[in-house]
Amino acid sequence: MRQLLKNIDISIVLLVVAFSLGIGAMILHVSSLQSSLLRASAINTASIFSHTLTAVRTLYTSDVVLAASAYGMDVTHDYLLKKNAIPLPATFTIRLGELMGKHAGGAYSRLYSALPFPWRRVEGGLSDEFAKKAWDELSRDPGKPYSRFVETGQGLVLRYATADLMRPACVECHNSHPQSPRRDWKAGDLGGVLEVSLPLQGISQQVAGQVANIRLIYSLVGLVMLGGFALAIYRLKLSEKTLIQGSEELEVANQTLKDISERDALTQIANRRCYDARLSSEVSAAKRSAAPLSMLLIDIDYFKLYNDGYGHEQGDEALIQVANIANDCMLRETDFLARYGGEEFVALLPFTDVEGAIGIAENIRAKIEAAAIPHAFASQGDCVTVSVGIATQTGGNIDARELFKFADAELYKAKANGRNRCEVYKHK
Ligand code: GH3
Ligand code: MG
Ligand code: MG
Repeated sequence: MRQLLKNIDISIVLLVVAFSLGIGAMILHVSSLQSSLLRASAINTASIFSHTLTAVRTLYTSDVVLAASAYGMDVTHDYLLKKNAIPLPATFTIRLGELMGKHAGGAYSRLYSALPFPWRRVEGGLSDEFAKKAWDELSRDPGKPYSRFVETGQGLVLRYATADLMRPACVECHNSHPQSPRRDWKAGDLGGVLEVSLPLQGISQQVAGQVANIRLIYSLVGLVMLGGFALAIYRLKLSEKTLIQGSEELEVANQTLKDISERDALTQIANRRCYDARLSSEVSAAKRSAAPLSMLLIDIDYFKLYNDGYGHEQGDEALIQVANIANDCMLRETDFLARYGGEEFVALLPFTDVEGAIGIAENIRAKIEAAAIPHAFASQGDCVTVSVGIATQTGGNIDARELFKFADAELYKAKANGRNRCEVYKHK
């Protein structure tokens, strides 16, 4: 039972730990989800931004620049200062990026190269570590965008770089331009890096909205789990209480059963079964300690005549009275009286030598006589008396059968010698 209750307590502790771990895992999951959603969303936005710029530029080069050149227009970076001039594709891309950035939460784009035209040497070169690294990486693998999240004064910013490859339509112009830093361009060469920088602040609000939904779902799941968990604990506690109650009732019932099985129903003193068990334990103890063990066999005199004369019911009353008087003569905690059977009682007196046993036997006999329970049908005397046989063994030399045999022989002797007397076994 205790083990079962202990198991219930351990189960509750395990449930609490598992639930706390689950909640902790959920919180961690939500924050890592928020972070990865934010980053994925930023990369997606930057990629769309970058693709749009590239597509518009390709279209501008093929459909505007070539046609305008055919009509003799000047295609130049300083187109605002000249007549009949339109911007170079690169210049156009930079301007377009600036305009788009105004609508994209502070995003901006840059176009730079390891080989800028002289008029763009300052803002068009590889101005920082990221730019240099992007150039190197894209030279190696132009198809794979290079990106990093960097902490800046405005918070976390995504820097997303893609390759700006030399288009076939641009090769001739770049190789023949008087200020071109290189004259052996081929289509597909890495001409520049198109970088889109995107502050994550604006995106984080959108993501926070999405995560709020997930958080709501998790909270609901958590609440349901909490409810189920509380219910489980409540039911466990309830069954624990029932078990405790049940076990207490069981203990009481067991004790009651034990008492009933060991007590004589009429006199309420110990019965024969209890005596048998007690005798064997006292004999063992006396053998170990070598202390004396005495036995008294007490038998009511002329009791058949009592029953015949007064009736069985009154006989029972007399039996109860005799049992109570004899039981009151058990002075020590270890002294023990049982109903042996019929109108016969047996007393076990551990640590009691023959003198002590005679004293107690005489006391019992005298007190019953003094109680003066009328017995008008006795062959001698006019009240209820008892005869007692006494036997004592000592020095570890104890034998239960012999002890009883000696006491019984002395009881027989007491009857033969006139009843209402005690006889004691004398060792030869
Ligand atoms: P003695 O002096 O030699 O011991 O004679 P006795 O009559 O006492 O002995 P005997 O063995 O002849 O009779 C015992 C009687 O005890 C028989 C029975 O009527 C009575 N008796 C035994 N058990 C009970 C009991 O539970 N209730 C009642 N009322 N009488 C009982
Ligand atoms: Mg008798
Ligand atoms: Mg008898």
